[in-house]
Amino acid sequence: MLPDYAEHDGAIGLDWYATDPNLRSLLDRLLTDDGDRAFAEEHVSTYGVLCGGPLARRAEVSDKHGPVLRRYDEWGVEVDEIEHHPGWLESKADLVRAGFTGLSHHAGRPVPAVVTAALSYLVCQAETAIYCGLGMTSGAADIVERYAPDDVRDDLMHRLTSLDPDEAWEGGMFLTERQGGSDVGANTTRAVPDGDEWRLYGEKHFCSNVDAEVFIVLARPEGAPEGTRGLATFIVPRVMPDGTANGFHIKRLKPKLGTRAVPTAEVELVGARAWLAGGTRGESGEAQDVRGLNRMMEMVNGSRFGVALMGLGIHRRSFLEAAIYAARREQWGQRIDSYPMVRETLVDLLVELEAGMALTFECASAARTTADAEEGRLLRRILVPLAKVRATREAVNAASQALEVFGGNGYMEDWPMARQLRDAQCHTIWEGTENICCLDVRRAIRSHDAHTALLARVARALDSAAPAPVLAPVIDAVATSLTDTKEALAHYQAADDDMQLLNAKRVTHLLADLTEGALLLDEATWHLARDNDARKALIARRFARRLVPSRARGLLDDDRTVLDSFEAIVRYGTVAWL
Ligand SMILES: Cc1cc2nc3c(=O)[nH]c(=O)nc-3n(C[C@H](O)[C@H](O)[C@H](O)COP(=O)(O)OP(=O)(O)OC[C@H]3O[C@@H](n4cnc5c(N)ncnc54)[C@H](O)[C@@H]3O)c2cc1C
Repeated sequence: MLPDYAEHDGAIGLDWYATDPNLRSLLDRLLTDDGDRAFAEEHVSTYGVLCGGPLARRAEVSDKHGPVLRRYDEWGVEVDEIEHHPGWLESKADLVRAGFTGLSHHAGRPVPAVVTAALSYLVCQAETAIYCGLGMTSGAADIVERYAPDDVRDDLMHRLTSLDPDEAWEGGMFLTERQGGSDVGANTTRAVPDGDEWRLYGEKHFCSNVDAEVFIVLARPEGAPEGTRGLATFIVPRVMPDGTANGFHIKRLKPKLGTRAVPTAEVELVGARAWLAGGTRGESGEAQDVRGLNRMMEMVNGSRFGVALMGLGIHRRSFLEAAIYAARREQWGQRIDSYPMVRETLVDLLVELEAGMALTFECASAARTTADAEEGRLLRRILVPLAKVRATREAVNAASQALEVFGGNGYMEDWPMARQLRDAQCHTIWEGTENICCLDVRRAIRSHDAHTALLARVARALDSAAPAPVLAPVIDAVATSLTDTKEALAHYQAADDDMQLLNAKRVTHLLADLTEGALLLDEATWHLARDNDARKALIARRFARRLVPSRARGLLDDDRTVLDSFEAIVRYGTVAWL
């Protein structure tokens, strides 16, 4: 059992790994190889201290002292420099040194995706803005490694994966234009052939981490067809080898609601030198087989998974801050966490968090939990948009609920929750809005039959569930929900386009609910077997009420879980079971 939360002043300064037994259990469960688990322990425990300490402390400051664009120097020459608070730069340097962008290239062993996800989850508890920049760096490195021309690849990779902050470069991606972010097919940025290379002309409307060094940019080669088919992906350095600007003009920094420390800009590209990422050139120099959007979507899918982790990070931070505040704040002479409704808020913050963790970490481990590689690929195909939708929406709810636990203080910028709520609202939008991700779930069903892998995964969780009485209501709820979902999917697939488009969000949430319920059942079974502990079973039972809603808002159930097991749930104690 963790110490009483009243022993702490706030989340900042704590070791965020040591205070998160659920994360430790996830690593134990998903990393079955001892070498992998030891590797995870070494790195994740270091990040627990780094993120909970200096990163979290500096994030409060860099949010209030955001980046400033210095467009011209004193001679009136356009320089487009961004000035940052020193704390922001120190935090990025700490993360580069800790291998946040270079671990997979320097670890000397494969880095399990679960470990990368755990590190990201911890960073996002401090500040999702910093994860935005460095996460895109890893995404850009993937594209560079696969598609950059031979003569520049090694140099770019060396920079993008360096552990030395003085030589490390960062990445970003420019898709969105003024006329549309969801409909990137409307992009008008042009690519003009220039020898073996290209020159880009156009305006990009949302460019985060704009002072990074390498960007992955969507543009339309001259003569290519309209729509998404004619788009190509380019690798674009911000400065030329001689240090001069590569046709980049920063028009302004966006006045954002949250994620303020990372600069997001409007950028005009005027003849920016670019390399085509993959694809070939025809006889007269035209781009052929560009399949540009596919290549960009490889990066976008990776970043959508990263945005789900941003949601989880904010959710976890919200819980931790609220649990500590509620343990310290008194009203009517009693700690407010002794009041049943406050207890319910804290328990449900954790129930939703642990459900979201189960779903999102399953994306990272899909290859391990499926029968074969193809099933793993399909499972990941549908889990990524499901996790992005669920984790980012729940983070907004969690930040809002946690802020209210702070009462009026929660609304104030000198307490920690206001920033979390402002930041959370970004993540339902960027890397594809909630609606667009729901349409992606529909595509995963229609074009890839990916739901079959998901349903098979749920069936496996049911097959291997412990036949313990404490889990019986969860098994019933997941089994009923599986039957209902199969019926609903058959109906959905037979419906006309309008009805499918209308119901895409409903289907997404139905699948997310079912999957989370099944994965919590898996986890509860695992904890019963390993630790003889029913805490996770209580979490799964509470979540399962969503799968089979009770009558009269549950008033007739007399469920006393929150009253009787509050300490064991929020302080991660052991729960005995029969
Ligand atoms: C802080 C921040 C940073 C960003 N950084 C970057 C970046 O670095 N690089 C980059 O390329 N982009 C970036 N973006 C842009 C972001 O990806 C887009 O804002 C997002 O994809 C939505 O596009 P849009 O703003 O044009 O909204 P629109 O596409 O105009 O959408 C408006 C609304 O209409 C809905 N909608 C649109 N089409 C449909 C449909 N077919 N069915 C149902 N609903 C629909 C959307 O869900 C949304 O609610 C950033 C955005 C923010 C807020």
